[in-house]
Amino acid sequence: MFNSLSDRLTATFKNLRGKGRLSEADVDATVREIRRALLDADVAVPVVREFTASIRERALGAEVAAALNPAQQIVKIVNEELKDILGGATRRIRFAKNPPTVIMLAGLQGAGKTTLAGKLGKWLAAQGHKPLLVAADLQRPNAVTQLQIVGQRAGVKVYAPHPGTTSETDVPTGNPVQVARDGVTEARNKLHDVVIIDTAGRLGVDAEMMQQAADIRTATRPDEVLFVIDAMIGQDAVNTALAFQEGVAFTGVVLSKLDGDARGGAALSVASVTGQPVMFASTGEGLDDFELFHPDRMAGRILD
Ligand code: GDP
Repeated sequence: MFNSLSDRLTATFKNLRGKGRLSEADVDATVREIRRALLDADVAVPVVREFTASIRERALGAEVAAALNPAQQIVKIVNEELKDILGGATRRIRFAKNPPTVIMLAGLQGAGKTTLAGKLGKWLAAQGHKPLLVAADLQRPNAVTQLQIVGQRAGVKVYAPHPGTTSETDVPTGNPVQVARDGVTEARNKLHDVVIIDTAGRLGVDAEMMQQAADIRTATRPDEVLFVIDAMIGQDAVNTALAFQEGVAFTGVVLSKLDGDARGGAALSVASVTGQPVMFASTGEGLDDFELFHPDRMAGRILD
């Protein structure tokens, strides 16, 4: 990901190299190139506008005028601004004072929620937590079984609504809100300190799905609502993110499929338009292909 954006920005900065002072025309030409590179990477227009306006303002300001190497100073400014639109500082999970900490996952079908439940569960277990995965996606055939398989591979328990399957507990069927609520009760009874609730998604944003997710949020009062988004979705990222923000008021973003050849627009737009930070990155189908997201490192990689 970001390869093309990264190459374009590097080429732009190369043009500035060796220049002592930067004229306003130099700055404008640079900002124009940055704007084109971002638009071609599918970054949302309002985000590009805001980003390039602050680069221009800072590039024409005192910090660049006084710099020994103005080109280098501009790279530093772009780096800082990139870090900012990716969410600023690394944001970690806010654990509840009184366990269990409830983490709800939301997002479109195929975004990578079920896989993420396993990844997050495994990651938390490795840190000494005792997570419980809750299968509240009763929409998609096999979603429950898929979560059970993922849980098994991750070595993490799963609370699931199907009687007669590999579920270890006798749980109700049918109502995802009830399943989610009962999952939290189960966690409390069995001393799990983190509950990860997998919810249903649709291929597109849909009122019924959103209402169900909102009802699960109300019923379980999660400490974190993670919005999982496929980094490959490009220009649709912003509308999808805004719909989920309105529907479930998520508290953090997970970018999935960062291993693909997405141009990076979703990654750069979603945190910026929703004001919620990117917290995790999913980078493959394996349960270990997952990491805490560090905006500064990602900005550094783009400008490498
Ligand atoms: P859900 O519908 O949101 O629960 O999505 P799933 O977890 O079922 O994921 C949909 C598909 O994407 C599955 O085939 C996953 O193996 C795959 N997938 C999930 N996360 C990643 C990722 O980070 N990278 C890649 N390449 N594939 C992923």
